[in-house]
Amino acid sequence: MPDALYLHAAHDARLGPAPALSNRPDGVRLDIAAVGLCGSDLHYYKDGGIGSATIAEPFVPGHEFAGWLTDDVPELGLGAGALVAVDPNAACGQCAWCHEGHPNLCPHVQFIGAPPFHGAMTPHLVVPRRQIVPLPEGFSPLEAVMLEPLGVAIHAVDLAKPRLLERVALLGCGPIGLLILEVLKVAGAGEIVAIDPQPHRRAAAAQAGATATGADLAVLADLTKGEGCPLVVEATNAPLGFRDAVRAARIGGRVVLVGIPDGDTYTLPAAEARRRGLKIKFARRMGEVYPRAIELVRSGKVDVTSMVTAEVGLDEAPELFRRHAADEPGLIKSLIYPNGQKRKGD
Ligand SMILES: [Zn+2]
Ligand SMILES: [Zn+2]
Repeated sequence: MPDALYLHAAHDARLGPAPALSNRPDGVRLDIAAVGLCGSDLHYYKDGGIGSATIAEPFVPGHEFAGWLTDDVPELGLGAGALVAVDPNAACGQCAWCHEGHPNLCPHVQFIGAPPFHGAMTPHLVVPRRQIVPLPEGFSPLEAVMLEPLGVAIHAVDLAKPRLLERVALLGCGPIGLLILEVLKVAGAGEIVAIDPQPHRRAAAAQAGATATGADLAVLADLTKGEGCPLVVEATNAPLGFRDAVRAARIGGRVVLVGIPDGDTYTLPAAEARRRGLKIKFARRMGEVYPRAIELVRSGKVDVTSMVTAEVGLDEAPELFRRHAADEPGLIKSLIYPNGQKRKGD
């Protein structure tokens, strides 16, 4: 039996025998090519859960992944060996939110890699056929994996609706923040001021086209003469992320909250938000974004490669969780290759 990476509880990531493969009739079997380590996976590791979603039994995380089909799938026009991405979100399609076009808000959602559903940090996985995302020629496993977090960024920018050349404050320059930065530029935003306490992440933001960067809000006070920005996008894991987003916003501004705070609790002085009369939106996962994510990568409008700073095999995955939880300098996005890093022809 090959090994899979299991989260047992907070700060307890271990390899164990891979779970049995599902034999559902609509299932398609994949050899997992690569899987991303997401901030949400890290929350399960650091906190043992996210809000009411807790680790009741050991589960295999991994919802950002790509794989090679092990059999022909004529319904999709794909042959064995084809590299495909997977949309981890299976909404019910029946409820009011699904009917209103918000599959990301479906309360009956089955999400691959969120407990109790095992994810892709394992060599093989069976996924429902309708969640398979075919790819154009020439995609690498890395690019295919990054479509999911890129989709989260597209959804965030859809919610933010930047006006042409509008100045934006971006809080948090992890993978999601950096992807949001790139998509904001494609969407026509103006100056983007990127804020993150970690120097290597600020450098990555500058590389990705941020106009200015800073370790904290002081940089905004100078640039905007204390007024703040009309649009703020928050993509941190900080309990003070909401407060900082409010403080970065000008009177009457808009705030989009994308990050998940450590400990699942925000600290927010109410008057600071109320007196600004802010419009605040929360982002959850994504809507129908795969065609646009594929086009952004295919056309080269968005670079998903430079932010990948570690690529390891499954045997190093437990250590990778620990390194990320410790905020090891230099890390941004990490990928795990459950069947080995390279395959012939890659
Ligand atoms: Zn994710
Ligand atoms: Zn639904």
